[in-house]
Amino acid sequence: MTDARTAWVEVADRVYQRRYDPFDVSVTVVAGTDGLMVVDTRCSLAEAREIRGHLRQISAAPVRWVVNTHVHFDHVWGNAEFAAPRQVPPAQFWGSAEMVAAMRGAGEDPDTVKLKETLAARSEEWRAKLAELEEHVPDNIVRGGHDLDLGDGRVVRMRQVGRGHTDGDLVLHVPDADVLLMGDLLEESGDPHFGPDSFPLDWAATIDAALALTGPGTRFVPGHGASTDASFVVAQRDTLAAVADTCRSLHAAGVPLDEALKTGDWPYDREHLQDAIRRAYLHLSA
Ligand SMILES: [Zn+2]
Repeated sequence: MTDARTAWVEVADRVYQRRYDPFDVSVTVVAGTDGLMVVDTRCSLAEAREIRGHLRQISAAPVRWVVNTHVHFDHVWGNAEFAAPRQVPPAQFWGSAEMVAAMRGAGEDPDTVKLKETLAARSEEWRAKLAELEEHVPDNIVRGGHDLDLGDGRVVRMRQVGRGHTDGDLVLHVPDADVLLMGDLLEESGDPHFGPDSFPLDWAATIDAALALTGPGTRFVPGHGASTDASFVVAQRDTLAAVADTCRSLHAAGVPLDEALKTGDWPYDREHLQDAIRRAYLHLSA
């Protein structure tokens, strides 16, 4: 069986996923008669050049569209590889309004500044990737939803179904292939990631809204990990709801933030939940 960690896997009709290290990030390609759509672009131009090479294993067609599911660096730092002068004609870039605003503000964002320092400290390879980094912000903005026609009636529905992993997560529905690309609203190879920009209290309802777009046979492509069916998505939704419920009850009981992590009964590794609890408390106190 083909493994998406070493080759493209056709997860649904003419929809191809490949999983790339570092971070086991999903790159998904939707092939249309007018060209290819690439969803998420990895952490660097060098990594995106590797994607471009691998695309030839699917098709010789040009990349006409690039969509970022959300703002995090492992999904957007390869963008410029699909823009002029590296790609002529350039692809059309799409992202949510919130994602675009966050990417534009990333230069002054203390979390992003710290992240770049951490990555640079890791290795010479990372320093080289950061040295050539050119952040290319999508100039086509999704507000709520937008449909793209890839030719011959093949439509990709880009939808914002709520806040969760970030405030600007996009899901992509390809109805003719019965597949939903979830970005980091869904993770299969690790626990869902709660960062300093997450919305832990909203996340489960957002998954419900995503599930409402789908049917019983739909395939789901996570931002990290192998494609899944609805039962996996529902289980992750329930666990996310449990995290939110625990935050709510601890907050209601007056348990202070710095004690909540050791007090609560948590379904995920405690070391991954620091930001989840901090963000939930912040939103509950607002
Ligand atoms: Zn992310």
